[in-house]
Amino acid sequence: MLGVPRSATQDELRKAYLKLAHKYHPDKTGGDKEAEDKLKEINAAYDILKSPEKRTQYDQFGSTDGQPFAGGFGGDFGGMGGGAPFEDLFDMLFGGQGKRRGSGRGQAGADLEYRLRVTLEEAALGVKKTVTFARQETCSDCQGAGGAKGSAPETCRQCGGAGQVRAAHGIFSVTRTCPVCQGSGRVISNPCRSCSGSGQVKGRRELQIDVPPGVDDGQRLRAAGEGEGGRLGGPRGDLIIAIQVERHALFERDGSTILCEVPVTFSQAAIGASVKVPTLFGMDELRIPAGAKTGAQVTLRGKGMPDVRGYRQGDQIVVLRVETPARLTRRQKELLEEFDHESDARTYPGCDEFAKKVRQYRPGT
Ligand SMILES: [Zn+2]
Ligand SMILES: [Zn+2]
Repeated sequence: MLGVPRSATQDELRKAYLKLAHKYHPDKTGGDKEAEDKLKEINAAYDILKSPEKRTQYDQFGSTDGQPFAGGFGGDFGGMGGGAPFEDLFDMLFGGQGKRRGSGRGQAGADLEYRLRVTLEEAALGVKKTVTFARQETCSDCQGAGGAKGSAPETCRQCGGAGQVRAAHGIFSVTRTCPVCQGSGRVISNPCRSCSGSGQVKGRRELQIDVPPGVDDGQRLRAAGEGEGGRLGGPRGDLIIAIQVERHALFERDGSTILCEVPVTFSQAAIGASVKVPTLFGMDELRIPAGAKTGAQVTLRGKGMPDVRGYRQGDQIVVLRVETPARLTRRQKELLEEFDHESDARTYPGCDEFAKKVRQYRPGT
């Protein structure tokens, strides 16, 4: 029902629940009856599984005897939050270079990938990060040509500068890349001492990355011309920055929507209360109406994630969870018993309605 494996932690369970509760909420489905039923089932399933004792019971007996939620396990939410399957690439231009691919001469440098972790708060507001990474730089002594100063590359004797050699196999003749010059047609007889003739030296690069607000897990930024150095005048590769947004203890993200489950006490829910609710942009005051139920959702407009392309700001959805009081003192029990004496059908319309149905019910004999 919740799409989590049996091994899911309480935290994973809560997050899966929040996502589903949001998905099937009447605000989103336009009051669709099927979605409403689904939401009820989800609430019921979560109600069982969020309690460790009930969960143990369910794990032991629930799936073997056709209980309501049997068979719902084993859904594939395993990848939630991990490397997202989609991949967006944003071009970032540094120093006005832009892409210089295919400029003709030389061999282009390879692209480099850098994994950049950001917190959800950083992703919400955008952040400047300094990254330091190793990369191949074009050797400044030989400009990447590989030959010592004053010496020029010579034509490869093996292939005569063609870069390819022919080998006869009976009546066939096979052409392959020249093993001496690796296809370049030139050899360096007097290699540059700084780079041993490779034309490249190990270097380190420090770069400031502007992470745009709203960036999502798995998205990629491209820093053009910041990858490995090219050879023989070839352009640099690019630096690809793979964004990894860390999980948050309080919030679950669903696109531009931020979901947050807020527990309220049994009496707060009954009487109504004003509670403090965390958002990515600070604490907010939230008015809980009297008679609030578990699963009730309140939208905080504009308190979600911004769109990475700058279109609109998402919302935060607060999902209430009413906590039943536990470990009561004798005095508290007395108070609740007294409270029960004062209660009637108007206090508990759900219980009353159920009792009426039960009274009319004639079980088969
Ligand atoms: Zn060199
Ligand atoms: Zn050759």
